[in-house]
Amino acid sequence: MTIDLASLGVSPKQFEISFAPEEIDIDGEATIKSEIAFNGQLSRIDERTFVRGAIKADAEMDCTRCLEPVERPVDITFEDVFVEAVAESDKDEVELAVEQLDEALLESEEIDLAEVVREQILLDLPEQIFCKEDCRGLCPQCGGNRNLIDCSCERDQVDPRWAALKELQNLN
Ligand SMILES: [Zn+2]
Ligand SMILES: [Zn+2]
Repeated sequence: MTIDLASLGVSPKQFEISFAPEEIDIDGEATIKSEIAFNGQLSRIDERTFVRGAIKADAEMDCTRCLEPVERPVDITFEDVFVEAVAESDKDEVELAVEQLDEALLESEEIDLAEVVREQILLDLPEQIFCKEDCRGLCPQCGGNRNLIDCSCERDQVDPRWAALKELQNLN
């Protein structure tokens, strides 16, 4: 869904939209389980366009240790500021200023709200998530979920250095 900047003015334009999960590609970082609701407002002052709003959805991520799904709702409030690229001559200057202010430079006369939602969700997702604080993860040998099964891999495993020593002892 793209917004034509020419249609915007100083007085905020309210919107309530929703996206199907498949409309927002978040690179498999999480699984969106519901429609993605995006309520907010758009306004424009000179060359700056302001997008404020809230994004909500049910979502799941895989536990970093055991890979089991963990509920992780999307609930974001944010403001994005887009600056239109002005005359080519001072473009570098504008680009620099924009970076410092954490604003995004717009190359076209449109804003793609699906892209805004995609970026906000990706920014909001944690690097790591755990199903519980003391998740025991997967066994590196048999791949079993150690929260669910008590595999005996660790007990059976003998450190190769000890094994070598044992052999020496057997020789004597
Ligand atoms: Zn886990
Ligand atoms: Zn195991």
